[in-house]
Amino acid sequence: MPQQRIVVLGGGVGGTILANTIARTLSPDEAAITVVDATGQHVYMPGWLYLPFNGSEGLELSRPERSLLSHHITLAVGQVTQIDPVNRAITVTHAPSVPTIPGLGGASHATLPYDYLVVATGARLAPDDLSGLAEHPGEWHDFYSLEGALRLRAALHGFTGGRIVIGIGGIPYRCPPAPLEFTFLLDDWLRHRGLRDKTEIHYTYPLNRVFTIESVAEMVTPYLDERDIRYNVFFNAETLDAERKVLTSLEGEELPYDLLVMVPPHRGARVIETSGLGDEQGWLSTHRDTLEVKGHERIYALGDATDLPISKSGSAAHFEAKALASRLIANVRGEDPDPKHAMYDGEVMCFLETGRGQATQLVFDYEHPPHPPRPSRFYHMEKHLFNRAYWHIVPQGLV
Ligand SMILES: Cc1cc2nc3c(=O)[nH]c(=O)nc-3n(C[C@H](O)[C@H](O)[C@H](O)COP(=O)(O)OP(=O)(O)OC[C@H]3O[C@@H](n4cnc5c(N)ncnc54)[C@H](O)[C@@H]3O)c2cc1C
Repeated sequence: MPQQRIVVLGGGVGGTILANTIARTLSPDEAAITVVDATGQHVYMPGWLYLPFNGSEGLELSRPERSLLSHHITLAVGQVTQIDPVNRAITVTHAPSVPTIPGLGGASHATLPYDYLVVATGARLAPDDLSGLAEHPGEWHDFYSLEGALRLRAALHGFTGGRIVIGIGGIPYRCPPAPLEFTFLLDDWLRHRGLRDKTEIHYTYPLNRVFTIESVAEMVTPYLDERDIRYNVFFNAETLDAERKVLTSLEGEELPYDLLVMVPPHRGARVIETSGLGDEQGWLSTHRDTLEVKGHERIYALGDATDLPISKSGSAAHFEAKALASRLIANVRGEDPDPKHAMYDGEVMCFLETGRGQATQLVFDYEHPPHPPRPSRFYHMEKHLFNRAYWHIVPQGLV
């Protein structure tokens, strides 16, 4: 069998685990693996949740992608601007200051052919999708970017009391539990600063309960009540009225705020839209078990880039990468994929901080909803341990 070219778009959680897992099994004679990433930096986003409340500048939340990849893998730093499924090639544009695309020489564009393509380009923030957000960037805060989380910290330090509203700019968004976790951590932080009596916290959610999954919503709602955190469900944020300092919903509700924390609307990567491959939000229509992009041979997708009916989380990307690696290894060797290992069953495992030094754990798949255990210090410690251990075991595909 001639050497096969596997090109992975995106050196985030999913793309990195996939590439390293394949590189551990297939020899360089069997496959040439290339990861193309826009920045060449691997970012650990779960750490952003804590930045508004701690003293870190977030430098520990990013590492050079090269340092996390097996030396059998080629890293090309550049922006993928086109995917051409007919000719089985992608176009990469790179900054002249980063001449790391092999064979590119001094040119600013390169065409990379592939035998197998994996799209793992994640999600991007799209404030334009909610009226008022893009027009008034200084008016609202977020913890969905490093800069946003640090600016939110500064705003919290200047906050002396009033009403804090937490709004969701649209579904789907990365890490569904994160806004709830932020709300619980905010409650703790305000109590610690002696500001809780002077502050109303309003958590909003687009559905008729406080979380997408019913069993989780049932579990956390009493904790919101107990801490006097108000919740406005069926609140689909529609407009930010910066002059009046009001967030309005599609349902006609108006929520005044003194400090507004938004989960900005999310979309798939621009290249998916420009290549005409995604749906109207730029998500790739993906087979839920095999992770094939529907209607396109030899193109697969994983992680946040997909339209799978499962949370956009590093955990989902992780389990998907393992299943897809098994499938691609079999494909390259001309073998039948092992149905046990090469099918993704919707597995997700993540933690949900419930404040007061406690957390719970969500384990579920396509068929089985989570039954979250009672929050405890144990799960909180486990989450923190995982955040630290991440760099040593996860991107490498060791777990
Ligand atoms: C505040 C916060 C807290 C979170 N907490 C958790 C948690 O506790 N547990 C959990 O499981 N998940 C959590 N997540 C979600 C998790 O971080 C993401 O779901 C995960 O990173 C998705 O992995 P991915 O590989 O699909 O995409 P990403 O990790 O986003 O990687 C995508 C990569 O593609 C690259 N890319 C994009 N477009 C292009 C292009 N055109 N050309 C080249 N490269 C491109 C990007 O540079 C990036 O490196 C959290 C997210 C946030 C924001």
